[in-house]
Amino acid sequence: MNSRRLLLCTDLDRTLIPNGPQAEHPEARHHFRRLCCLPEVLLAYVTGRHQALVQQAISDYALPEPDFAITDVGTQIYRVTDGGWMAIPRWQQEIGADWQGGRRKQLQAWLSPLTELRLQEASRQNRFKLSYYLSLDRDQAWVMGDIENRLKQKGVNVSLIWSVDEQKNIGLIDVLPCKATKLHALEFLQRELGYQPHEVLFAGDSGNDLTVLGSAIRSVLVANASAEIKRQAQQLAAQNGQAESLYLATETASDWGGNYAAGILQGVWHFAPEFRDRLQPPEGSP
Ligand SMILES: [Mg+2]
Repeated sequence: MNSRRLLLCTDLDRTLIPNGPQAEHPEARHHFRRLCCLPEVLLAYVTGRHQALVQQAISDYALPEPDFAITDVGTQIYRVTDGGWMAIPRWQQEIGADWQGGRRKQLQAWLSPLTELRLQEASRQNRFKLSYYLSLDRDQAWVMGDIENRLKQKGVNVSLIWSVDEQKNIGLIDVLPCKATKLHALEFLQRELGYQPHEVLFAGDSGNDLTVLGSAIRSVLVANASAEIKRQAQQLAAQNGQAESLYLATETASDWGGNYAAGILQGVWHFAPEFRDRLQPPEGSP
């Protein structure tokens, strides 16, 4: 169906931001910005970064201002209007139900016997995001199991996200409400805006994008993603009966290649043919 409106949702690091080892085509982000200027395109960033780090990235990489930002691994959703960021309180109410009204400080107190956990900086915490460092020589699976059990005994349902900060060589554990995932946040935003599934497109590159990449939401995996993520995303999408909703960008499918922003544009070309005319360079342009 040609509806000619699009909620374009993209991860930032190594998806739109070209901060991976692969090269970015010099014109790719320019064409992405042009597409996002269209009044019928709403842009949402979906990222583990917090608000200040998203704003930093917008400035450092000349990214377009978004209309929405799902930040802090899905625990915050902002509406962005004329540079002003307004948190959407209904989202906090929705994810807060998983924590039985509990607050981060309360969960922190319950986990205080786990001395191997070291709290991350205050800027990386929020009401519904409790984040720790864990040394890489610790048994991460055992520690995460212990966290889950202790909180379950208190009647609190959490989702635990493990990742590694390769620059600092340290493990990161995020303790989040169950619903505070990129997928749930995207579904919430789609419902709030009254968009149909065929009017939404997501782009990602790594492990914390997998739940969306394997879901019914039409998704593109940028070409610079690792072979392992490509395999996992295809497997998950097939398991969920959603193979048609996943598109893998390739370096050869477009003149701009398929890395980063060029990969996102390949996804738009594939899933939203009604926008193809806006992906061509305008007549007479250099
Ligand atoms: Mg990423």
